[in-house]
Amino acid sequence: MQLQRPAILFPLFASLTSLPGIGPRLASIMEKRIGKTIIELLRHAPTNVIDRRARPAISDIQSGQLVTIDAVITKQDIAPAKTSRPSRIIAETDTGSIELVFFRADPSYIRRALPIGERRLISGTAELFQGRVQIAHPDYILSADKADELPLFEPIYPLSAGLKGKILRKAIETSLARLTPLPEWATEVIAAQNWPPFDEAMKALHHPQSGRDISANAPARERLAFDELLANQVALAMIRHDTSLQGAGNRFQGDGSLRDALVKALPFTLTEGQKSALRDIYEDQEQAGRMLRLVQGDVGSGKTIIALLAMLHVVECNNQAAMLAPTEILARQHFKTISALCAPLNVRVELLVSQMKRSERQRILADLEAGEVAIIIGTHALLSDDVHFHQLGLAVVDEQHRFGVRQRVLLSEKGAACDVLVMTATPIPRTLAMTAYGDLKSSIIAGKPAGRKPIETALINLDRIAEIVEKLRLQIAQGHRVYWICPLVEESDKSDITAAEDRFRHLQQLLPDANPQLVHGRMKTDEKEAAMGAFQTGAAQLLVATTVIEVGVDVPEASIIIIEHAERFGLAQLHQLRGRVGRGERQSVCLLAYQGPLSETASARLKIMRESDDGFVLAEEDLRLRGPGEILGQRQSGMPEFSLVDLAAHGHLLPLAREAADRIIAQDPDLSSDASAPLRLLLSLFEKDNAVQFLTSG
Ligand code: ADP
Ligand code: MG
Repeated sequence: MQLQRPAILFPLFASLTSLPGIGPRLASIMEKRIGKTIIELLRHAPTNVIDRRARPAISDIQSGQLVTIDAVITKQDIAPAKTSRPSRIIAETDTGSIELVFFRADPSYIRRALPIGERRLISGTAELFQGRVQIAHPDYILSADKADELPLFEPIYPLSAGLKGKILRKAIETSLARLTPLPEWATEVIAAQNWPPFDEAMKALHHPQSGRDISANAPARERLAFDELLANQVALAMIRHDTSLQGAGNRFQGDGSLRDALVKALPFTLTEGQKSALRDIYEDQEQAGRMLRLVQGDVGSGKTIIALLAMLHVVECNNQAAMLAPTEILARQHFKTISALCAPLNVRVELLVSQMKRSERQRILADLEAGEVAIIIGTHALLSDDVHFHQLGLAVVDEQHRFGVRQRVLLSEKGAACDVLVMTATPIPRTLAMTAYGDLKSSIIAGKPAGRKPIETALINLDRIAEIVEKLRLQIAQGHRVYWICPLVEESDKSDITAAEDRFRHLQQLLPDANPQLVHGRMKTDEKEAAMGAFQTGAAQLLVATTVIEVGVDVPEASIIIIEHAERFGLAQLHQLRGRVGRGERQSVCLLAYQGPLSETASARLKIMRESDDGFVLAEEDLRLRGPGEILGQRQSGMPEFSLVDLAAHGHLLPLAREAADRIIAQDPDLSSDASAPLRLLLSLFEKDNAVQFLTSG
């Protein structure tokens, strides 16, 4: 199915560099948080609003108050460049005088901006200092003829390092100007709810005039959230409707030989939670019709073995199985575990990743197509066009939250109506799972394997890093294996890696006996493998890593994890990271090393981490705590990624969107009619890492 992007939307899909003031450097900073195109920028909603209307008399000004004053410059005391002494400018108003203070400012700039005898409109945060009213570095200094350029209300956006609010606001204003009225796509719902048209809603979104306009329930915000949900639901309804993706499904009734042999060979017995999830899966597999099942089980609950048993079931029936992992490290680990378990069963397992010798890749692909490979494990490399199966019966997607709908669909498309099993440690509330998957059944693995000792979680200020290292020295001498997780840095992946490399060298010097190793996402495969391997065997006792090891990595002997700048992570991510330890016999410890001062939310988050070890509780808290304006790393939760939908606040719009979507697709399954033209616009407007992208990219 192919949807063309309508020409009327072309200006909205221009790159951000087409905006004045945005060059390649800024665009690359914005890409990480916001996206590449104008429409993505427009979906970047403000989280607060500043009101610049207050123009109090000088004597009424409170410390910390945001004020705008109209004054004449009377005195300049300009410090030479590069001195620590600030420049001071005195300005007189009708009600008294005020002092403007500039640190390390360019003298010629100040002379130009604030000439003696001229009138200026000045806006900024005032402070009272020794009885004087001061504004340090005013936000605005405008000459009389430009006074009307002062925004009375100014939206505040989540920013990242290197991106200034002023530039962002200007870019958004220019973008809004490129937005023309569009034909309505959900006429009835919009009318019934009394919502503004799309372009007006977008403008209102970026021009809040009060706290109420910022709230999720402001009409403009509700409308846009509905639009985003509707786009998502229409895409899912299209997938549901697309018969090429449905098919009758398989009916697997294996004799149990492989599964029994595996279970017998395991050094442990399955937990009740694992058994019950397996019962659900086997039942689905045995029935005609396609299995679409989500297995939710907290970190360490033992999902890999479940995936393997489900795969062995289809192998018993002479079908193939594929397992998609989000990182190469995880794919390799699964390959190692699974091929070891399968060797005695005579089941051939192969690995497919992108960094691979061409000849080896060709060999595996040929054997896969010939049906000689029973189980294939891999990364996104599994999704390439040249990967063909002989008879794919089951596609497993591990740690599904790392993938978009598109990837799940691509994999399952490789087998006619193959079963799909998705596994996640990040719990997804039922209604939300529906947004992401349509009609997906879910099983929950309750409990963890017996004998696991609870992980001790402690908070420590990063200022005490020397102490941390000394303690580690002792623990390493006692044979502990330690993960040291390096923080996310805002600007780019590159600086994440520099930070990790610096920390690695630092620890290498201080703890040479631990034979520290480093892994990060940009390393070559063999380097990564060597580092992980050394840690797995115990040749190295300290692994310094970026969050590449966040999901799935299983080294049962590791018992200590230190998370540097824990305050920068979300709860779900911290929980995933912490789940790297507590997998073996040893009492495990998770050290959350934070840099103060902590924001209220960050401090609440860290406190909850100390109190709870339950992924479900943490996921709920994560949602609750994710206050507006808090910038967290990407893809932290199992939720589909929405930009304008706040799932906690907009849940009530979901059934509305789903109903509308079903109605639309029942009438026009591929949206090809003229009447569906507005909907085609909608789908383009919200194409992202979701089903829409799959449908539109062809
Ligand atoms: P996750 O659910 O996080 O993917 P894994 O599948 O990686 O968890 O399993 C974590 C560890 O627990 C592995 O080392 C695995 O061998 C072990 N394990 C799995 N099931 C059991 C069980 N029933 N009893 C004991 N250990 C188990
Ligand atoms: Mg796992």
